[in-house]
Amino acid sequence: RAKRLRLGVQIYNDRLAYNSTIKVTLRGQLRSALTNNEFVLYYQPKVDIRQKRLAGVEAIVRWNHPDEGLLQPGLFIDLVEQSGIIHAFTRYTLELAVKQIKAWSALGYELPVSVNLSAYNLLDSAFIPFVRELLDKSNIKPELLEFELTESATMVDIAVSRRVLANFREMGIKTSIDDFGTGMSSFAYLRELDINTVKLDQSFIAGITHEPRDAKIVEGIVSLCRNLNIEIVAEGVESQEQADVLEQLHCYIVQGYFYGRPVPASEITINLNGHERL
Ligand code: C2E
Ligand code: CA
Ligand code: CA
Ligand code: CA
Repeated sequence: RAKRLRLGVQIYNDRLAYNSTIKVTLRGQLRSALTNNEFVLYYQPKVDIRQKRLAGVEAIVRWNHPDEGLLQPGLFIDLVEQSGIIHAFTRYTLELAVKQIKAWSALGYELPVSVNLSAYNLLDSAFIPFVRELLDKSNIKPELLEFELTESATMVDIAVSRRVLANFREMGIKTSIDDFGTGMSSFAYLRELDINTVKLDQSFIAGITHEPRDAKIVEGIVSLCRNLNIEIVAEGVESQEQADVLEQLHCYIVQGYFYGRPVPASEITINLNGHERL
């Protein structure tokens, strides 16, 4: 039985070695983790800074590991993708998210929830029928569900992506491009894909208060998206100053540690009501 490896106190220099050791262990445990329901969803708020209210949440997975404690996706998502369980994994996270949408809806809170997809999900021909059936039996409002896709995911096969995204749209599900601006073909997306939202990568936000170039780039992307009728969400907002600059640049939906880290659904409740002020 693996000894508990203490993530918090690991020596920095040992991190790579440590990660590769733990990854070998984790890889062998993925399947049982799925059947034992060890993967859980945390939710991070997206906030409308003008209206000062919750605009939605992003579902972010954690592995509630019996020996290691709560693990961040950076440690295991690539393993999930490589191990062939990504299809079952995404179905599982999607079922959890839909259950949560249903639970919130039953309480009178219609909160949009976004779920991260992997490139492999777009290539899975069984995925669309699965989503259709899930929506059908859950009876949630489809517009409360949003899928986040990274640039690299949609570029795997642009023709397939277009078709899959068209299916999502037809079902009433929203789509967003995650980590926008980090790939080499960001603008190709905007041309090729019919998406609702662009999530501006946190690397742009980090410099926005002191790097004029970053601010100019954000300003340009915001105005481009507005012309294309695409919503924009800024990721990784960590300070009031960054939020203020974003507001000046007409970017009004923000997400980041300044507004809240990913937390269990029960901790979102206070600000859940769309009309309740933060
Ligand atoms: P992402 O989709 O870009 O998610 C945002 C990441 O940035 C999360 O890291 C979040 O905790 C972190 N973050 C949020 N606000 C801030 C901030 O203000 N400052 C900083 N420095 N970081 C912030 P996390 O939880 O480590 O997730 C990493 C990635 O794992 C996610 O990046 C996403 O690509 C992937 N992921 C998470 N959940 C799922 C999932 O259910 N399915 C799939 N396929 N991938 C997932
Ligand atoms: Ca995301
Ligand atoms: Ca139905
Ligand atoms: Ca992101």
